[in-house]
Amino acid sequence: MSRVLIVGAGGVGGVVAHKCAQRSEIFDEVILASRTLSRCEKIRDQIKELQGRTIQVAQLDADDVGATAAYLKRLKPDLLINVALPYQDLPLMDACLEAGVHYLDTANYEPRDVAKFEYKWQWAYRERFEQAGLMALLGSGFDPGVTNVFCAYAQKHLFDEIHTVDIVDCNAGSHGHAFATNFNPEINLREVTANGRYWQNGQWIETKPMEIAQTIDFPGVGERKAYLIYHEELESLVLHIKGLKTIRFWMTFGDEYLTHLRVLNNVGMLRIDPVDHKGQKVVPMELLKTLLPDPASLAENYTGKTSIGVIFEGTKDGKPKKAIIYNVCDHAETYKEVRAQAVSYTTGVPAMVGAAMLATGKWKQPGVVHMEQLDPDPFLALLGDSGLPWHVKEL
Ligand code: NDP
Repeated sequence: MSRVLIVGAGGVGGVVAHKCAQRSEIFDEVILASRTLSRCEKIRDQIKELQGRTIQVAQLDADDVGATAAYLKRLKPDLLINVALPYQDLPLMDACLEAGVHYLDTANYEPRDVAKFEYKWQWAYRERFEQAGLMALLGSGFDPGVTNVFCAYAQKHLFDEIHTVDIVDCNAGSHGHAFATNFNPEINLREVTANGRYWQNGQWIETKPMEIAQTIDFPGVGERKAYLIYHEELESLVLHIKGLKTIRFWMTFGDEYLTHLRVLNNVGMLRIDPVDHKGQKVVPMELLKTLLPDPASLAENYTGKTSIGVIFEGTKDGKPKKAIIYNVCDHAETYKEVRAQAVSYTTGVPAMVGAAMLATGKWKQPGVVHMEQLDPDPFLALLGDSGLPWHVKEL
């Protein structure tokens, strides 16, 4: 039994709160804290209506380390789930260290002024977490997150050696807007406009944004054009998958989305540096975020499915082998269950499952830890049981 504090009441935070509330045998107390209290209250009321459980809510500015640490010392949660934004990773890790609380997130730290997807800032906390006997579990969403666990599962059960890993991510859903992002717009647009990068034979190879594409047959969805982009889990997986020669990440984007992206980029709306506007400093990307639909608001009329998985090539018993491990998730179904679209759902459920691994002691490793470093079996058993069934198919 444990007391869990969820920080961030956005699309993902709502799902985490619903899913923790559903698991009263693991989380006997659930607290949701975020910058805007009214968003926490809305989720609390939904949880009461749909899950029949009362959670606590609080206002919290996670950028204020001193106030957060003091709050943690008063509240004494066993674990903090960070589903605010990547900017809050380091302040929340600092506060957890000060108050002696385990930490979990779903996205790597990013400085506000440079779009960088690197673990170096969080890896620098390794010794401090080890010495405090605390665990910081990084990237417990779907990708990163479940995809890392699929890699650990393939390494443990399916292959003797894995040579190629292709992480394949498709959202074949439709939200009815000309342009919107499925999770926080600022973070999403920084990610997809960055240069692509993949790893081959021990070296990183950089590409222009969206330079490489291929058609992939996504289970449950069919053939879609997917683009090679850089994604943070590649950085840890190259360290932990034995015999790996190539690892890439592919994501689908519709033509309409790409056209909007190109225009916004060309006119400077994706800039993350402040520009002078009538004597005021404005960051165009932040203004754009204000104008775009809130990702949580897309849920109500979303139709279609997501299909996310990992394709492996390697050897088993001396023979070549190819297989995919994947999940297919339906936007309308997730809306019915927790009032969220499938992108928030596929992120929020693994965050709850990762937290459950810590809360039950099934995963116990002080330090800063990646998902693929831990036993995949208990995680995947609970994941399948919590709304994200997964499948293995030989190709
Ligand atoms: P949203 O923008 O919908 O929600 C973010 C929430 O964090 C908002 O409620 C916001 O508050 C709150 N917040 C922001 N700053 C602070 C702060 N200083 N203190 C307290 N609360 C704060 O984002 P999403 O829910 O879509 O995404 C959440 C996280 O999930 C992101 O980090 C994203 O990168 C990650 N993610 C991971 C995925 C994966 O598979 N691993 C996939 C998708 C997302 P306010 O309401 O006041 O703005």
